[in-house]
Amino acid sequence: MAAILIPDNVISCNGVGINCYMITNHNPNKISLPSVREGDCIGVTIHNTNRVNISANTTQAEQYTRATVNGNMGTVRVHFYVDDKCAWQNLPLNFQSWHAGQSGKADKNGSEKGNSCTISIECIMDSVSGEVDLKARDNAARLAAWLLDSYGGELYTHNYWCNIRNGRTGTVDELNMLDDGYKNCPVFIRPKWEEFKELVESYRNKTGQARYFVQVGAFASRENAENYLAEVKKDYPEAFIKKA
Ligand SMILES: [Zn+2]
Repeated sequence: MAAILIPDNVISCNGVGINCYMITNHNPNKISLPSVREGDCIGVTIHNTNRVNISANTTQAEQYTRATVNGNMGTVRVHFYVDDKCAWQNLPLNFQSWHAGQSGKADKNGSEKGNSCTISIECIMDSVSGEVDLKARDNAARLAAWLLDSYGGELYTHNYWCNIRNGRTGTVDELNMLDDGYKNCPVFIRPKWEEFKELVESYRNKTGQARYFVQVGAFASRENAENYLAEVKKDYPEAFIKKA
């Protein structure tokens, strides 16, 4: 049996355990990796992927993370896999990820922005209403709320980015819901998109209190900032870079 991955650390966000296992640090098979994001994060993109057969001693999100490390996920690299038990984080949040494209199609109209500027969540589900699926969806909503509180921006579907690529225009939610002739993703969440958005909203920071951030450095060079961030993250995994 393949060895289960051991996370470098586990943190809790909005009640979801996040197993941190960065493929930027764990890449024994030398799979290709996204690069550091250059612009600001503009939000969170939600996907669905199906459950797979797993052994009793692991979870779906660990299995998908292991498949990624083993080079079995094609060109898909996401920040988070989320299941009914927990989440696994595969990429630092200042990295781009590969999830919003359409294979074989040139990206002429800007859907690349989905890869370069949003944080990606693959929610692992098999139906719209099963108990396990609803728990996975709930975990994804909790995580999305935490990310939106921390980094700001909008909530996007995979469909949104396909519609952008197709040159369609509209509000974020019009394009989130518009069929694009190719994708229906997140397939189990999108049919109840409004319900999911309300769920995310219910987990947003509602205290009315400001969130205070402490700046620990300022750099003229992005590279120097990245190097310092790597140090800070050893003690504060949620540290991030903001371009001012
Ligand atoms: Zn998708």
